[in-house]
Amino acid sequence: MNSYLLPLQATSADTIQAFEFKTSVPITPWESSNVTLLGDAIHSMTPAGGIGANIALRDASLLCRMLIDVKQGKQSLIPAIHNYEAQMLEYGFAAVKDSMRNTKQALAGRIARITGKGFLRLCGAVPPLRRAVFSDRWSDHAQQQAGQRN
Ligand SMILES: Cc1cc2nc3c(=O)[nH]c(=O)nc-3n(C[C@H](O)[C@H](O)[C@H](O)COP(=O)(O)OP(=O)(O)OC[C@H]3O[C@@H](n4cnc5c(N)ncnc54)[C@H](O)[C@@H]3O)c2cc1C
Repeated sequence: MNSYLLPLQATSADTIQAFEFKTSVPITPWESSNVTLLGDAIHSMTPAGGIGANIALRDASLLCRMLIDVKQGKQSLIPAIHNYEAQMLEYGFAAVKDSMRNTKQALAGRIARITGKGFLRLCGAVPPLRRAVFSDRWSDHAQQQAGQRN
C-alpha cells in the first residue's frame, strides 16, 4: 500500500469527506453596476494552491478601499466598482490559473511533486529567489497596503 494512504486507514471513516475539484474559467469584464462579486462567487479555484480564502480577503480589502474612496468623494460609485472589478479579475484569475497548475502538478506523479515541493522549499529558504519568483504577484498588493498604513 502507498505510504500516503496509511493515515487514511487510521482515520475514522465518518470524518472523511470526498469532494470533486472544481475551478472557474476566466470571464470577460461586464458593465459595472452597484452589484458586484467577490471570492468564490467569481473566481472559485481548486484548493491545491491554498489561496482561495486569501484572494477572497484581498477582494474584500480592495473593495473596501474603493468604497472608502467613494465615501470620501475621491471617486464616484460605478467607476470605483469598475476599478475594483478590473483589478480583481486580473489577480483573481491569475490565482485560478496557479491553482490549476498546482493541481496538475500534484496529479502528475511523484517526481513532479517532489520537484515542485523542493522548489517551493528552496524559495522559502532563499529570500532573493522567493522575491524573484513571487514578487509580481504580491508586490502591488503589499505596496497598496503599505501606502494605506502611511
Ligand atoms: C478542502 C479545501 C481546502 C481549502 N484550503 C484553503 C487554504 O488553505 N487557504 C485558502 O486561502 N483557501 C482555502 N480554500 C478555499 C476557501 O475555502 C474559499 O476560497 C473561501 O472559503 C471562499 O470564501 P467566500 O466567502 O468567497 O465563499 P464561501 O466561504 O463559500 O462563503 C459563502 C457563504 O455564503 C453562504 N450562502 C450561499 N448561498 C447563500 C444564500 N442564498 N443565502 C445566504 N447565504 C448563502 C454559504 O453558506 C457560505 O457560508 C480551501 C477550500 C477547500 C474546499
